[in-house]
Amino acid sequence: MGEHIDQAALDEAVTFTSELIRIDTTNRGGGEGSERAAAEYVAERLSGAGIEPQMLEKAPGRTNVVARIPGSDPGADALLVHGHLDVVPAEPADWSVHPFSGEICDGVVWGRGAIDMKNADAMVLAVARAWARAGVRPRRDIVLAFTADEEDSAEYGSDYLTDHHPGLFEGCTEGISESGAFTFHAGDGLRLYPVAAGERGTAWLELTARGKAGHGSKVSRANAVSRLAAAVARIGEHEWPQRLTPTVRAALKELAVVHGLPEPDTDAPDFDADKLLAQLGPAAALVEPTVRNSSNPTMLSAGYKVNVIPGSATAFVDGRMLPGGEEEFHRTLDELTGPDVDWEFHHREVPLEAPVDAPAYAVLREALEHFDPGAHVVPFCMSGGTDAKQFSRLGIAGYGFTPLKLPEGFDYQALFHGVDERVPVDALHFGTRVLDRALLAL
Ligand SMILES: [Zn+2]
Repeated sequence: MGEHIDQAALDEAVTFTSELIRIDTTNRGGGEGSERAAAEYVAERLSGAGIEPQMLEKAPGRTNVVARIPGSDPGADALLVHGHLDVVPAEPADWSVHPFSGEICDGVVWGRGAIDMKNADAMVLAVARAWARAGVRPRRDIVLAFTADEEDSAEYGSDYLTDHHPGLFEGCTEGISESGAFTFHAGDGLRLYPVAAGERGTAWLELTARGKAGHGSKVSRANAVSRLAAAVARIGEHEWPQRLTPTVRAALKELAVVHGLPEPDTDAPDFDADKLLAQLGPAAALVEPTVRNSSNPTMLSAGYKVNVIPGSATAFVDGRMLPGGEEEFHRTLDELTGPDVDWEFHHREVPLEAPVDAPAYAVLREALEHFDPGAHVVPFCMSGGTDAKQFSRLGIAGYGFTPLKLPEGFDYQALFHGVDERVPVDALHFGTRVLDRALLAL
């Protein structure tokens, strides 16, 4: 296995990353964006390898590409491999190189999307084309999906695909996509590869306080502004209790062991995740955001003149819910807002959890440890969300697995949506080999 990943495949992974970056697919939100040129680029490379792509658009320019590689075992479930084609905006003045140059300099590919996630789109294309050249067939059908609009609401991308073209994903039970399987240097030479097996849910809330409008000089016992301010303060200062999901429990156990600590009993009533996290050094950052729900007030709006008490006041809160934590979130918000403030979901996305005791997870682990012996694969739950949320509606369990071997000091997470986003050529070579091995074994 593996010899079909030849120099041509490794070169393509790099060239495709660079060329996809040069196609500006900035998603400004609210429907403003175009993925069509990148979709055509991807479709041409698939057709060139004898893979028949379908182009799907909800609106002109917002193009998705879906293709199915037939597997050798017709009875096997299918596997979904998806990556988004859009990127978040980049301000050229802030960058060392132009963000849409795709420049390759000293073994590093630069530009918006180098990490999130044109690199992964490119590696998947390179692997599929290498298989076609060598006559390699995966065991399972593999559905490739290159999506629009992930960086906004997914309305023109995975949301549209799952709503209007579910048949394209017939038989898919697992999905592979962003983001995980990158080298996390945890200190003292310890190398971790966090593989995502879950996502917190999104709960963007709109709060409305009502009161009695009136003159600012009068006595007011129903002031909407003070009611809102009190609710917002309670929400922002609320200490959410620890709630450990299966993915987080597995992560804490693995992390304790690789740090030379005894394996914790995460089911014990007195188990304190925060105490363990304090002993894990840099690796604590992988788990910290996902041991509890969270709620951060982010926007406030009320009033128009200093001597007029407004009749209402509004606020927005960025809430995130753990898998299994939705009911508690709901109940707690009712309590924190109190009787004078209403709240509703402005935008809501489900939390996800994929099993870490499943054969699929074991395959992902093996592929990484094969190419980086001595490193440790650990599961983690993503604090935010991806297209996997939409695909979960079709019963697809999502894993975050976009393999990259990164040198120490390379701050992967800071480059997501960050300035000077870039990826080492070596990392792409490693990722291409790992993806090939994993996708054939899954
Ligand atoms: Zn992304």
